[in-house]
Amino acid sequence: MKMKSKTVYGLIIYFLLISFNLINLWQNLALAQNPMPIPKVIVIDPGHGGENQGAKHPSHIGKYEKDYTLLIAKLLEEKLLKKGFVVWMTRQSDRMVSLQERVQFANEKNADLMVSIHLNSSKNPGPKGHEFYALSEEHIDDSIIRLHIFLENQTQIIKSLINQAPQNKDEEKAIEAVLRLKHNVSVKQSETLAQVLSNSFLNIKTIPSKGVKKKDFTVLMGALMPVVVCEVGFINHPKEGIYITSTDGMEKIANQIKNGVETFLKTISK
Ligand SMILES: [Zn+2]
Repeated sequence: MKMKSKTVYGLIIYFLLISFNLINLWQNLALAQNPMPIPKVIVIDPGHGGENQGAKHPSHIGKYEKDYTLLIAKLLEEKLLKKGFVVWMTRQSDRMVSLQERVQFANEKNADLMVSIHLNSSKNPGPKGHEFYALSEEHIDDSIIRLHIFLENQTQIIKSLINQAPQNKDEEKAIEAVLRLKHNVSVKQSETLAQVLSNSFLNIKTIPSKGVKKKDFTVLMGALMPVVVCEVGFINHPKEGIYITSTDGMEKIANQIKNGVETFLKTISK
């Protein structure tokens, strides 16, 4: 009986993987005949909001990190919309959104990638530079636990991924295996996205690079798409803090994130 269940389980995984390939093949054939490609879905996450203000601006009275993450996000949204992407923002105004809600939102939108925008700060002013964070491999299991919590009673997400809801325990297991696969591919791709964004920021000469790092930030956990935390510069550095919150600085930052997103999507579609 156990063997039979294992065989059924194996067959379902096989069937699902074949179905994914057939869907990809169908999409490629449709693309060859149809000049209009399916638009990619981008989720922009302006860090902080509401009571969660983030770091205080050292010289702009009453202004916090949350204000600038939203301004940069809105500039980025405009640029990505102009390029034909479908864009969703985790917040459009100064409101509190939990970190888990942000990731869950991106999963529900079936996003192709998510960028979370932050301005860094240090205990004492001095450090400067941009850095990009992807989820570290040692936290993959924790991230999958978070994903399962998200997916409880979320059959619409599963439906959007495989076009049907699980009918029985074996199908549930098979779908879980596919989700784990998709999750692990997304974690790998997050690293590539972080690297591409970091390279793109080298074009902003006034902000030095602190490179790509890996961490278990909550906003990186449980995502079904590549996701990166962009620390675009230090808000409490006397010069950098002024630059990254200036009209010119925010414009350049949004532009380089847009360029990085485009380069990344070309890289993974090859
Ligand atoms: Zn922050």
